[in-house]
Amino acid sequence: MQYVSTRAAAAPASNAPQQFSDILLGGLAPDGGLYLPAEYPQVTGAELDAWRTLSYAELAYEILRKFATDIPAADLKALTAKTYTKAVYRNARDGEKAADITPLRVLEENLGKGGATTLLLQGLSNGPTLAFKDMAMQLLGNLFEYTLAKSKAELNIFGATSGDTGSAAEYAMRGKKGIRVFMLSPHKKMSAFQTAQMFSLQDKNIFNIAVEGNFDDCQDMVKAVSNDLPFKVAQKIGTVNSINWARVVAQVVYYFRGYLAATTENTQKVSFTVPSGNFGNICAGHIARMMGLPIDKLVAATNENDVLDEFFRTGVYRVRKSAETYHTSSPSMDISKASNFERFIFDLVGRDSERVRALFQKVETSGGFDLSGKPGSDGDEFKLVAKYGFESGKSTHKDRLDTIRDVADDFGIVIDTHTADGIKVAREHLQPGVPMIVLETALAAKFNETILDALGVDAERPAGFENIEDLPQKFVVMDADVAKMQAYIAANTGL
Ligand SMILES: *Cc1c(COP(=O)(O)O)cnc(C)c1O
Repeated sequence: MQYVSTRAAAAPASNAPQQFSDILLGGLAPDGGLYLPAEYPQVTGAELDAWRTLSYAELAYEILRKFATDIPAADLKALTAKTYTKAVYRNARDGEKAADITPLRVLEENLGKGGATTLLLQGLSNGPTLAFKDMAMQLLGNLFEYTLAKSKAELNIFGATSGDTGSAAEYAMRGKKGIRVFMLSPHKKMSAFQTAQMFSLQDKNIFNIAVEGNFDDCQDMVKAVSNDLPFKVAQKIGTVNSINWARVVAQVVYYFRGYLAATTENTQKVSFTVPSGNFGNICAGHIARMMGLPIDKLVAATNENDVLDEFFRTGVYRVRKSAETYHTSSPSMDISKASNFERFIFDLVGRDSERVRALFQKVETSGGFDLSGKPGSDGDEFKLVAKYGFESGKSTHKDRLDTIRDVADDFGIVIDTHTADGIKVAREHLQPGVPMIVLETALAAKFNETILDALGVDAERPAGFENIEDLPQKFVVMDADVAKMQAYIAANTGL
């Protein structure tokens, strides 16, 4: 299996097709594009039938081996078996089986003339940090450790977080040989729960750096360090952001799992609604569909930051300035541009990398592009979006509170704010005869402030998280000063 960049056509030889292991530790392709398989591997009906009885780890192996063809089968099998265990994904609700890894529950089923309308919830947030990012990041941690050990290399992961990604990365990399994590966060700006989750890690290879400033200051520091190539090379700096291909492909697995759990035969279709920000999660759904999984609709749910909803309604992709980005009660979806969107656009424009390059250059120069086909637009491919099954909707703070209340009243479970955006939008897209699966992207305990507003009671915390704020915390506070940051990293890597 070879990988190509979405902008590859006019690219130099350094952009030649790559193997899975070559792109594992990297981010963007050298030409600024994103990696995708040269062709999507296909899944046969016989394979789908055989996969119905597999465990999650076995299914992950079957799917990943189509993409990671340069990792020996026995090694990949061991890595997936080690990653997807009920001990790691132990935060399942009462009545859900932890061994299912992503348990699927029926919320409601209404019988009607054209068949039943069914709304289901697939729990992706039962891992160590209570958000779906663990699903991919835990695998990444094991893949990184495996690859680095083989080449006797080391890696220093450097990033900035306002919450979910940083903690998922730290829990995935803690204690891993050859890896250190340096994670910036805005000092005193994360919730007490999120701060405690990250800062209570005492592992020697985890470095929490609280920056005197806001999240943008942290990101500027990451950018400054990334642009300092000699430092980056000398300090073996890498990232684990959402464009990482291995993260996307690990997420493909749970679409298969959800489909297989919701159906009994391959003639049936299902739809998914995905609380979306950077388009990483739903991009994995698109890939599953391109592999032949019988997905009917992929519905992108956004919050007030509706870049994606606007595109799927109008064909206009218009990124927002950071001042135009709202701080909402589903903060992990507060994005101004969707970093994985280029992968879908590549397929939408018939894999014409010249077009992709021009369109995303236009994003840089003019803040977006228009594929509506109207006079003066940049193309008319919006008319093909329906063929790929994409639909969308948006949700507001009030919708979120109402949905959290409704779901608690009607089904007796408490959902988080991002999942609430998903359920609100899913209900607008239900179709008789096609089960609608909403992906649960976090557990409510992570966003308790809003749960308290909606329900007047605290969200339940999974076992082991009861007194997390009382644990000793390990972190350093630092000014937003790049030179100081670089000195701190060098001192701790010894490189
Ligand atoms: C990251 C995140 C999202 C958005 O996922 P994308 O892959 O960026 O679209 C949604 N919900 C939660 C809880 C998240 O942490």
